[in-house]
Amino acid sequence: MSGTLRLILGDQLSRSLASLTDINKAVDTVLMVEVMEEVTYVRHHKRKIAFLFSAMRHFAEELRAEGITVDYVHLDDADNRGSFAGEVVRAVARHGSQRLVLTEPGEHRVLQAMRDWQDELGIDVEIRTDTRFMCPPEMFADWADGRKQLRMDFFYREMRRKYNILMEGKEPVGGKWNYDAENRESPDLSLQVPAPTSFAPDTITTEVLTLVEDRCANHFGDLADFGFAVTRDQALAVLDHFIAERLPLFGTYQDAMIADEPWMYHSHIGFYLNCGLLLPAEAVQAAEAAWVTGHAPLNAVEGFIRQILGWREFVRGIYWLKMPSYADRNFLGAERGLPEFYWTGETAMNCMKQSIDQTRRYAYAHHIQRLMVLGNFALLAGIDPRYVNEWYLVVYADAYEWVELPNVSGMVLFADGGYLASKPYAAGGAYINRMSNYCSNCRYKVAKKAGDEACPFNYLYWDFLIRNRDKLGNNARLGMIYRSLDKMSDDRVAEIQADSSRFLATLG
Ligand SMILES: Cc1cc2nc3c(=O)[nH]c(=O)nc-3n(C[C@H](O)[C@H](O)[C@H](O)COP(=O)(O)OP(=O)(O)OC[C@H]3O[C@@H](n4cnc5c(N)ncnc54)[C@H](O)[C@@H]3O)c2cc1C
Ligand code: SF4
Repeated sequence: MSGTLRLILGDQLSRSLASLTDINKAVDTVLMVEVMEEVTYVRHHKRKIAFLFSAMRHFAEELRAEGITVDYVHLDDADNRGSFAGEVVRAVARHGSQRLVLTEPGEHRVLQAMRDWQDELGIDVEIRTDTRFMCPPEMFADWADGRKQLRMDFFYREMRRKYNILMEGKEPVGGKWNYDAENRESPDLSLQVPAPTSFAPDTITTEVLTLVEDRCANHFGDLADFGFAVTRDQALAVLDHFIAERLPLFGTYQDAMIADEPWMYHSHIGFYLNCGLLLPAEAVQAAEAAWVTGHAPLNAVEGFIRQILGWREFVRGIYWLKMPSYADRNFLGAERGLPEFYWTGETAMNCMKQSIDQTRRYAYAHHIQRLMVLGNFALLAGIDPRYVNEWYLVVYADAYEWVELPNVSGMVLFADGGYLASKPYAAGGAYINRMSNYCSNCRYKVAKKAGDEACPFNYLYWDFLIRNRDKLGNNARLGMIYRSLDKMSDDRVAEIQADSSRFLATLG
């Protein structure tokens, strides 16, 4: 009798995965495949591909060590058909399988294709809910039902109550749901930021690095000094080090940026949460425990937990609720192409150069670099959401469409018209100057508002508001800003528009 075939995808590397819970080691086979279609449908950062292939190969070894049969198809296997569908067809024939079990993928495109497999393959195909998330799509849909706008803060409170996290009975500990008033300090340049936790490549990782260098030579990004965790034990060590060394200052410096200091006090666990080496619930519990024992203050712990229990689950809920139409939203009608410097880093804007250079080196930038530097520029310059989404999906090692798309189209570009965020996160150079030391080493002058030397963010900010007045003028949260705009002289408005046209023309 042939057993069940269990397909495990590259972002499903969790032993507790729904499709592994009832595995019969005597007869079942786990199928894992490296396919070129997934590597190139957008040409992912080299480091991201190497990380996922190495983590997949290590996970396969761990399953084998447990006595599970794993059929693993390598990218360079001669008969590899290069797609999930092609490899599943081959594996079904190889094993004579009558039943395929899988856990729902993190991308709408892939789920749609898998739903057709039962008919295409002529075998029983069971797609299970991904139980690793803390808010199933149906629960989110119930919560969202009847709400015109969705606000993360209210969703987050529900999640705190449901999981009894940082609660005293029915009330939040300390009396407040959110401690951001104590967070988000400007950077202190004397800080000795702890080094990130990193691991020397072993034999498996070294093989994968060679493979990726060979097969993906023309992809964006560097592979040098690869140090990602590629096993669950290593990922747990990253989480432990974060809790021990960084969490106490996480909130205080959450928004701070220092030149040549990419990692700051962030956790760097997004890579591992999103591919399954870590589970969100265990990260939340570890942070809560650090507050209970007095190791970390409430402002840091609450701020960190909100990112995972709040934002992460919230954006996923929006993704599954609103796809596939969400991917086509372009409320502001932005049409500009993506400037070449997003790939090369060759720009005189130091904040952009710093953020792009580290993205190329590490496949990582922290939230404020993604939101208030790289994203803010794309918003102000009016870059088409399709190009911006593709860039973010390519360049970050934690990027999967379910989390990247709502962050880019909803949070950064306001392309959904305010469904996810109540107003665009637009800002001039003063914000970047307050939260970083980038401006002190920039060709542009952040204090200048007009002319060739002025910081482009300054005039682009006002130009953005002028250009989009018909769409944003009635937004209550922008009322004060539009009133300031109305007080500007015609000459000043003309100057803003001339500076912006001159600068935008240089983007190509
Ligand atoms: C334009 C843009 C694109 C983004 N693209 C991605 C992406 O592709 N993948 C991704 O995981 N995150 C994305 N984020 C969210 C966030 O920037 C990253 O999760 C974070 O920078 C990862 O680094 P970290 O693990 O050090 O996070 P920390 O700052 O230490 O935060 C802890 C964890 O909270 C979660 N988190 C925090 N903010 C968010 C958020 N807005 N949405 C979802 N989860 C969040 C992540 O799991 C993260 O690992 C994006 C944000 C923006 C503004
Ligand atoms: S001056 Fe403007 S462009 Fe230069 S680093 Fe500061 S914010 Fe960026």
